[in-house]
Amino acid sequence: MDSVISAKIGSAETETAPRILAGRHAVVTGASRGIGAAIAGELARLGADLTLIARNPTPLRDLAATLGKSGVKVRHGVADVTDEAALAKALADAASAFGAPAILINNAGAAESAPFARTDPALWRRMIDVNLNSAYAATRAALPAMTAAGWGRIINIASTAGLKGYAYVSAYVAAKHGLVGLTRALAIEVAKTGVTVNAICPGYTDTPMVEAAVANIAGKTGQSPDEARATLAAANPMGRLIRPEEVAAAVGFLCRPASAAITGETLVIAAGESV
Ligand code: NAP
Repeated sequence: MDSVISAKIGSAETETAPRILAGRHAVVTGASRGIGAAIAGELARLGADLTLIARNPTPLRDLAATLGKSGVKVRHGVADVTDEAALAKALADAASAFGAPAILINNAGAAESAPFARTDPALWRRMIDVNLNSAYAATRAALPAMTAAGWGRIINIASTAGLKGYAYVSAYVAAKHGLVGLTRALAIEVAKTGVTVNAICPGYTDTPMVEAAVANIAGKTGQSPDEARATLAAANPMGRLIRPEEVAAAVGFLCRPASAAITGETLVIAAGESV
């Protein structure tokens, strides 16, 4: 396994926590690295059984083996979340294996940057498909069992880009605004069912996705990768990137039984960037 993931999961596991999610099955999309892997680690720490979904099976299998050592049941499903049939099958397989998911974390996403003039229809559709349509499809598959059970947590990992504009990422920003809109509308629609629907909006977070942004900035400006990373961090009031574990902790908070009255919210984890 990627040593970065291993270190991050390891640090989460060193803290003990009441297993308040024991017996709950959580599905995390985009679980193999970055924010998704940290969320999987946090939910395992809280005692949830897990289905981890992404496209590349190798890191998923490694992470499942690591998290399984903490005493929860962990399985993985390989699916491209932009392939609605493959995603539906992965969710059906998950329900057959561990029971209907009570927690769905729509985390899989990607950020491609381009000036609007070079945002062609294919790029536009890729961003809407992976960041928005995937959450619609997964939620549509998972929600009926949650409402029938009278308990559920749907958490959409949006972005500060779901709340404000950024240049050169119009398709990503539009998709994440759409994800926030879906969150708010569905939260109201299911408010009386015991299912909460919330969005988390991280700022720049220290993951492989940001490494790609760093490489992009470095390539375009002539800065070194360290300088490009420092440029991103300097734009933040705390002068730093967000850690994936900080996003994961917010997911754990929203999954708690005591968070039942929190729905339709956007929880910003951005070290002051959006204030
Ligand atoms: P990352 O490091 O690039 O990880 C993305 C994860 O999603 C991987 O597990 C990847 O695995 C999976 N994935 C990507 N495309 C997929 C697809 N089509 N089908 C299935 N799985 C797919 O990204 P991250 O930084 O952790 O970001 C996670 C989420 O947080 C995204 O929604 C992102 O928009 C959001 N976010 C990130 C930041 C940031 O600064 N990093 C800030 C705000 C919001 P495979 O490649 O194996 O499929």
